[in-house]
Amino acid sequence: MPQAQSGFEATNVNISYNFGQQITFLAQLTSSVPIQQAFISFRGVNEQTTRVIPLTLNADGSTRYQYDASQHVIAPFAVIEFSYQATLANNQSVAAGPFYFRYDDNRFTWKELSDGSVAVHWYNGDDAFGQAALDAARAGLQGISQTFPVSLNPPVDVYIYANFDDLVSSLTLGGKTWEAGHADPSIGVGMLAVAPSDTQSIDLQRLVPHELTHIMLYRSLGDGFNRLPTWLEEGIASMEELYPNPDYVSALETASKNNSLLSFDDLCVSFPADSGRAYLAFAESQSFVRFLLDTYGNTGIVALTQAYADGLDCELGATRAVGVPLNQLEIRWRETVLGQNMLDVATRNLLPYLIILGLTLIVPVWGAIGVFSTGRKNVR
Ligand SMILES: [Zn+2]
Repeated sequence: MPQAQSGFEATNVNISYNFGQQITFLAQLTSSVPIQQAFISFRGVNEQTTRVIPLTLNADGSTRYQYDASQHVIAPFAVIEFSYQATLANNQSVAAGPFYFRYDDNRFTWKELSDGSVAVHWYNGDDAFGQAALDAARAGLQGISQTFPVSLNPPVDVYIYANFDDLVSSLTLGGKTWEAGHADPSIGVGMLAVAPSDTQSIDLQRLVPHELTHIMLYRSLGDGFNRLPTWLEEGIASMEELYPNPDYVSALETASKNNSLLSFDDLCVSFPADSGRAYLAFAESQSFVRFLLDTYGNTGIVALTQAYADGLDCELGATRAVGVPLNQLEIRWRETVLGQNMLDVATRNLLPYLIILGLTLIVPVWGAIGVFSTGRKNVR
């Protein structure tokens, strides 16, 4: 081991941070061979890029590095891995670490209630609020287990912000502001916003199971989870809400009447950034997945997730899983759930084209009549 030969060591390793502002890394680096240049390197365990920063050492080897987390955002509750490296006077490269810490959102004083498998955290609300959240988590997991395996090893954490602004300011969602919650499934963390209120239990029973579903889907599918179409992932998560959003039904009816439904083909990669259309995307996905569950059962839903996790595209995944391509499933859903007559819809969609087609046919006929009559005039 080079470390052993050079005696390179990092001691008094210490971290302090203000979430969203700065992270301070402290350590004392010592080596039996003089240190030419020391570095610190760190990254969130799920990040692709490692930050490498040269350090200034004091005479006693102590070093302090402050990272500006307001400019270069790190996801909340991410586990951060860091290590110290050095180039020595004999050109040897040495390292100490890795060390780990979790970058909690410490802007708030969190209360915690845990049953050993699920921990709920909140900062606004009494003990009954926390109990309602934990009950919602347990009931949600019970529901999810009807369709997917539930894995609580390692345990999962649910963080309940008191309002949407607190939640959004904690996230690096990059435009994904349409969700009332967010899950970071690979670290087993769900985040959502529920304020203490008369309806807190219902709100919690809707949002906690939703975020837990994202985490359980990830645990059941592994990396293939990232290949799930958005409509399927969000549709399943919305379906597992114990109190589904009652306004989804009217949103669907209105869009169906106005002929403004979004096609699932357009909801494969992401949902619209526009919040109104995103809302409709959730309503449609929830209704569609519910329809698929009623038609093909739990095994159909599981087969769908597996086909997509295997990397099949949006159309073909459905074909392999249930024998019907996505666009045909969508037609059946529109007919069965929304009572649409697809021949009608097709005609309505084609109407502008039929008018143009009509015009392009009529214009030459008029032209021909014109020529004909002119000809006749000439004959006269
Ligand atoms: Zn979701």
